[in-house]
Amino acid sequence: MRFYRWFLILCASLGLAACQDPDDGPRHLTPEEIEKYKQEQTVKIEKYVEYRQGNCPVILTVPHGGTVVESFLTLRNTSNCPDPDFATDLDYNTRELADEIDKAFYQQTGKHPYMVIALIKRNHVDFNRKRQYAVPAGDDNVGKIYDAYHAYITTARNEVTQQYGHGLLLDIHGQSHSEDIELGYLLPPSTLDLSDAKLDSGTYVSSSSIPHLVRTNKAGHSFSQMLRGNDSFGGFLHRNGLECVPRPGYPSPGNNPYFYGGYTTCTYGSYGGGVVDAIQCEFRYSYRDTQAERVRAAAAFAKSITEFTQAAW
Ligand SMILES: [Zn+2]
Repeated sequence: MRFYRWFLILCASLGLAACQDPDDGPRHLTPEEIEKYKQEQTVKIEKYVEYRQGNCPVILTVPHGGTVVESFLTLRNTSNCPDPDFATDLDYNTRELADEIDKAFYQQTGKHPYMVIALIKRNHVDFNRKRQYAVPAGDDNVGKIYDAYHAYITTARNEVTQQYGHGLLLDIHGQSHSEDIELGYLLPPSTLDLSDAKLDSGTYVSSSSIPHLVRTNKAGHSFSQMLRGNDSFGGFLHRNGLECVPRPGYPSPGNNPYFYGGYTTCTYGSYGGGVVDAIQCEFRYSYRDTQAERVRAAAAFAKSITEFTQAAW
């Protein structure tokens, strides 16, 4: 059946009518022909990853909201992707939420952030993992899609670096924990549990996703202030009506389940150097559920981006 389907697709792509004469019968493609066809089909990247060039130093990445499934692409499983945190959950409506953030940001500032958006479903590829855990072993087509997503982030990050000398990347996700928005700076709860004095005296800043911001913010705020003080991103979200952790008055999630960052935050924030800082933003379902909620959350989130970056840059 599978070979026959490829044959029909091939006929269609060549503009041939399938089986005009029933006596001819369908010709089965050889495995080599199928492989050649698959390679020729090779993945129109725009079907699986969307890139929008921005005109300000803000980058939004949305890795887990894609819904496109393809029969010719391999599905991930725990054998072909030995990821210790293997997951295929869809971050429902995060693409739609990111679109609303872009719209609100444009209405408020006249600028667009850079956007890198997964359209393909996480069952095929997990863009927020290193490659060996992200791509099913042996599927070069999925590998190309993964590479394209990360090449787009690299392009955006390079442009922002060259044109502005600083940048903020926000990695947009959805979660179903008890927190409203979890802000991930690569710091586990055991680190966020520490006092401000302890956080500021140690080397914790160098293991976070924002050391550049801490070094350069124009108010000279300390690490703990940039994490959960009045001018932290959580501080602005809170004042604009979006509950989150960490923020002033709520420095750590404690024992609550909490996502504190992933491959994207780690790779493209300033943890590894550079002038772009990164925060993973995990939205509770109630902020993504309805169009009205997305519009409300997006307006407050976009306003917080502007206020936070104006205070820092
Ligand atoms: Zn996610």
